[in-house]
Amino acid sequence: MSSGKTVAIIGGGIAGLSAAVFLAERNFRVTIFEYSPKPGGRAYSFYDREKEQFFDNGQHILAGWYKNTFDYLKITGSYSKLNFQKQLEINFISKEKKVYRLKFPDLKPPLNVLTGLLKFGALGLRDKKAVLNIRKLLNVNDLKGNFEDALQLLREIEQTDNLIKYFWEPFIFAVFNTVPEKVSAEIFLNVIRKGFNANENSVLVIPAVNLNELLINDALSYLGKNGAEIRLNTGVRQIGFREDLKKAEYVLFEDGNRISADYIISAVPFFAFRKLFDEKTYEHLGYKSDRIKSSCIVSVHLFFHDKINESMLADNSFGMTGLTGTNVQWIFRRNDRHLSLVISNADATGITDMSNEEIFNMCVTDLKSTLNEFTESMISDYKVLKEKRATFIPDRESAEYRPGQITDTANFFIAGDWTDTKLPSTIEGAVLSARICVNKIIETENLN
Ligand SMILES: Cc1cc2nc3c(=O)[nH]c(=O)nc-3n(C[C@H](O)[C@H](O)[C@H](O)COP(=O)(O)OP(=O)(O)OC[C@H]3O[C@@H](n4cnc5c(N)ncnc54)[C@H](O)[C@@H]3O)c2cc1C
Repeated sequence: MSSGKTVAIIGGGIAGLSAAVFLAERNFRVTIFEYSPKPGGRAYSFYDREKEQFFDNGQHILAGWYKNTFDYLKITGSYSKLNFQKQLEINFISKEKKVYRLKFPDLKPPLNVLTGLLKFGALGLRDKKAVLNIRKLLNVNDLKGNFEDALQLLREIEQTDNLIKYFWEPFIFAVFNTVPEKVSAEIFLNVIRKGFNANENSVLVIPAVNLNELLINDALSYLGKNGAEIRLNTGVRQIGFREDLKKAEYVLFEDGNRISADYIISAVPFFAFRKLFDEKTYEHLGYKSDRIKSSCIVSVHLFFHDKINESMLADNSFGMTGLTGTNVQWIFRRNDRHLSLVISNADATGITDMSNEEIFNMCVTDLKSTLNEFTESMISDYKVLKEKRATFIPDRESAEYRPGQITDTANFFIAGDWTDTKLPSTIEGAVLSARICVNKIIETENLN
């Protein structure tokens, strides 16, 4: 059924693209206006002329609970480009070069989580006793009290330092890109309960292709076939509202042109949202997006002269290894001569301010202390990528600053990973926010 109604989407990141795909599926007339010359926002690949290959702006991992993302990829035809683990399985290497394997067995939750951790070699007897308390996090009725942050929650259920170091910190860095004390207890519990409530939800999912091939190219061809348009290099300067703010009337572009649409969706990041409003309107509508704090991710690509020895990395079937006690948290084997390293929370530790050479040297030190047989002379070249505003910090205050997707202005919606989904800054948060906007538009048009 077609509504024939027009929708203007500001921003062509994953939130904007997925909103467009869900709307195009229902025959809305959609146009995305994207400021930059490329779609994808914070999840994209770029072509490196020197290396003659595409690189992702940073390794992206998905998880079994990314249901909205999977729906998006099923519509665009990219779902088969994902690799799913059968069970959660990660190998960690410590600074003493010890390998610890974490594997959830094929049991019902919470037995899978508890048994997996009870067999996790990094933990001693005292830590294992504390593992049993994790049940309290999974059961909604078991935790009474008002908790500020994830660390407070972990202390409440008596998680030991070891358990935090070897299990909770790697998990929290990977999902929230910050330290446990900066993760709101509410968002932490939401993710734990989504991720650990079924075996299939806890598994890691890795793109088998680059980010453009997974998230963008197929979406663009789907949109093209369904009459939607994406205009690149088209920055929006402002959204114009009716005097009483009950209707969004037009979109004003940087070049001074303007268009009107039946519906307008903002899908810009938190750090660009404020600029879409004049000061009075921003204040009247009560937005506080400018108070949200961001966190950086540094990615380092290492290229090897020769094939990387199988025995050097204790990686799993995905070619993924966790490091503990080091600045580098994750290593991904991209091919037999190329590793990609991930450093989360990089601004808080001052790494963002280091030169590329200093970062490279720091990585070499980390790899020497963890990997058997590794020497610097094995490396032929390296590339450092800093994404300064990779994610927002999902602290307790951020709950106040994240607006809902549905606003008091009937035809104006807000999508983006930073809107109030109770999820951290993730692809799934971006797609979920888009879906909420689209569902409301469909409901308004009585298309259900
Ligand atoms: C290095 C890195 C690693 C990450 N790892 C993971 C991971 O492992 N798993 C995971 O789930 N997530 C990960 N993320 C987070 C994930 O990439 C983001 O949550 C997601 O891409 C956000 O999508 P979005 O559409 O909400 O916002 P964005 O991607 O920021 O898109 C917003 C778009 O709006 C455009 N725009 C801004 N202002 C205007 C304007 N005035 N007019 C027109 N257009 C405008 C921007 O150019 C941009 O294209 C990672 C992010 C980075 C950077």
